[in-house]
Amino acid sequence: MKAAVYTAKNDPPHLEVVELPYPEPRPGEVTVKLLYVGVNPIDYWIAGGRYPIASPNRIVGSEGYGVIDSVGEDVEDLSVGDYVTIYPWLFCGSCRYCVNGLENLCINVGIVGGAVDGCYAEYIRLPAKNVVPVESGVGEYLAVAGVSALTAYHAVAIGDVSKGDNVLVYGASGNVGMFILQYARFRDANVYGVSRWSWITEYGALERIHHEELEKYVADRRLEFDVIFNSLGGDLFSESIRYLSRRGRIVTFGGLKNMSTELDIAPIYRLELRIYGSTGGTYKEFLEVVDHLSSGTVKPRIWRVYPLDMADEAIKNLFHPERSGKILIKI
Ligand SMILES: [Zn+2]
Repeated sequence: MKAAVYTAKNDPPHLEVVELPYPEPRPGEVTVKLLYVGVNPIDYWIAGGRYPIASPNRIVGSEGYGVIDSVGEDVEDLSVGDYVTIYPWLFCGSCRYCVNGLENLCINVGIVGGAVDGCYAEYIRLPAKNVVPVESGVGEYLAVAGVSALTAYHAVAIGDVSKGDNVLVYGASGNVGMFILQYARFRDANVYGVSRWSWITEYGALERIHHEELEKYVADRRLEFDVIFNSLGGDLFSESIRYLSRRGRIVTFGGLKNMSTELDIAPIYRLELRIYGSTGGTYKEFLEVVDHLSSGTVKPRIWRVYPLDMADEAIKNLFHPERSGKILIKI
């Protein structure tokens, strides 16, 4: 089969398309013929060496949608020909976090495309519990369930977004941001997105705000935010804290620009601010996200679709200045 692997840790990453053996399923596993694959920053960080969780020659890619091609022994309820989408967190099912339904925090956790070969390939072999059957015909939107939509759904739950809350989303046109807008809007919040793209108002944002105008925009309207979502990290993280209301919540699920920053502690205790972390999502939430994408309750904005042969260009264009939506690979 054809697959895109990274042969050395480079920044920016470099992927090569190579020929590899068909991944036969072992007991308890299935092999999925991939149809569409989502491209995410985590793929970029793994292949670029920022997340040292995989060695070279790993196939990256945590999001995928396809059809079951072969089924290993001891697999029930899944058959060849079933359309499926992938839950990317490899979980043990028996640790104290798994038994409490927090598979994303499993002490034996790994991610597809990091701990095992991922989705930038014609076929992927996975534990049967990591694939979820879906209706055929929904198509490429289900490729974005496992990272983009799930991360957003979990983060909005962690932030406890409630009716009437003022919500500010940094990176609102990003892979996850576009879904946070939609999920926060469904909770009847007033959602403001920081972005240069006006299309975010079609995805749940009440207003689109350019970052360079944010300070004045907030001051002119005496706005304060009950919940802020910020996965950009760095100085933008510390900046955003000053826009919080008293007892406001800030939710971080990444540090796209920079993982460290300097924080002024005074407003955190004086205004009783809350800082929440969020990572991926639980298995139960994943099933709900699959329903939302299948029914069209939420949807991604697709920017470009590349063939597998152009996986290298696809991953490099994650940081293209004109990127305006999700990148997919059509296998
Ligand atoms: Zn576990």
